[in-house]
Amino acid sequence: MSVVALSRLSQTNLLDWYDEHKRDLPWRNTNDPWAILLSEILLQQTQVSRGIVYWQRMIETFPTIESMANSHVDKVLKAWEGAGYYSRARRLHALSQLVMLPSSEGGFDGSLPSSHESLLSLPGIGPYTSAAVASIAFGQPFACVDGNIKRVMARQQRVSEPSTKDLQSWADEHLVRQRPGDWNQALMELGATVCTPQKPQCHRCPIQSSCEGKDTPTAYPIPKKTTVKKATLWTCVEFDRQGNPIISQRKPDGLFGGLWGPQLHEGEVPDMKSEQMFVGTVEHKLSHRSLTVHVYMSTRLSSQVGRHPSGVAMSVLDQKIIEIVRKSGHEQTSFGKKDDMAHR
Ligand code: SF4
Repeated sequence: MSVVALSRLSQTNLLDWYDEHKRDLPWRNTNDPWAILLSEILLQQTQVSRGIVYWQRMIETFPTIESMANSHVDKVLKAWEGAGYYSRARRLHALSQLVMLPSSEGGFDGSLPSSHESLLSLPGIGPYTSAAVASIAFGQPFACVDGNIKRVMARQQRVSEPSTKDLQSWADEHLVRQRPGDWNQALMELGATVCTPQKPQCHRCPIQSSCEGKDTPTAYPIPKKTTVKKATLWTCVEFDRQGNPIISQRKPDGLFGGLWGPQLHEGEVPDMKSEQMFVGTVEHKLSHRSLTVHVYMSTRLSSQVGRHPSGVAMSVLDQKIIEIVRKSGHEQTSFGKKDDMAHR
């Protein structure tokens, strides 16, 4: 790590730039720790443009930590529908219930704790989220490290593969303790809007003069190779007499845990019965998996009771499956509009 570059990075330039150029994001217009926590958890795996939509939906549905704690987890999953990584929603619900417990029972008497250590003890809160919430919502002097800050650091220092320890040391050394929340956000904002993975705009960068990697910025850091595994699945959607699909709630620990959908089977499609018709193939990409789902529907009505898809939380993949079946136009697929007599 270059000591020369460390001493030259202008914190004033970066904070001035942030004050002038920061994006007007809704969670930046509030001091409410709950609203800030929601934004940090959503943004862990979601782009900012989509994060705004989900954040607004979540804060409208659960304006306080108490309102989430008093809700069933299914309502949280429904509000989270489409945002992906649903374990975040389940842990957030667990967090809200823990915070609402009295301190005599291990809770926090209804207030989100302000210390880094206490935040870290909550479900779903790792070092990044804890430092981000402690600094942004409570003004605590903790430096956070995310992918954007890693890129800025690697380029400033011309380091190909910075270790977690080096990253945290660099962030700690540069933290502006009088404005920790703004400082963390300024570094992240620079990485998100100027020091981008491709085509960084070094001519606009307020800390260009201290950057050792500006001649070949995209060489730093070396991108991690992600292996995307392909998987083939199949499903056969059945309907009840009302035209509702037979869907069930998945176990919490599996793929799309806690969400509703038709039963998915891994592997090649077995020989189908005559009443099972092929309606199409759905492709769906997750961060580390690329799924191909062969979709069938049964023309024989089920004796089970189905659910209208709008009444339960479903993943985007399950919504695509139901949509492709609905578009097949078979009379079974009218979702709750059927007259019983029509199926006798
Ligand atoms: S000068 Fe370029 S590479 Fe260096 S930190 Fe600024 S934007 Fe990133």
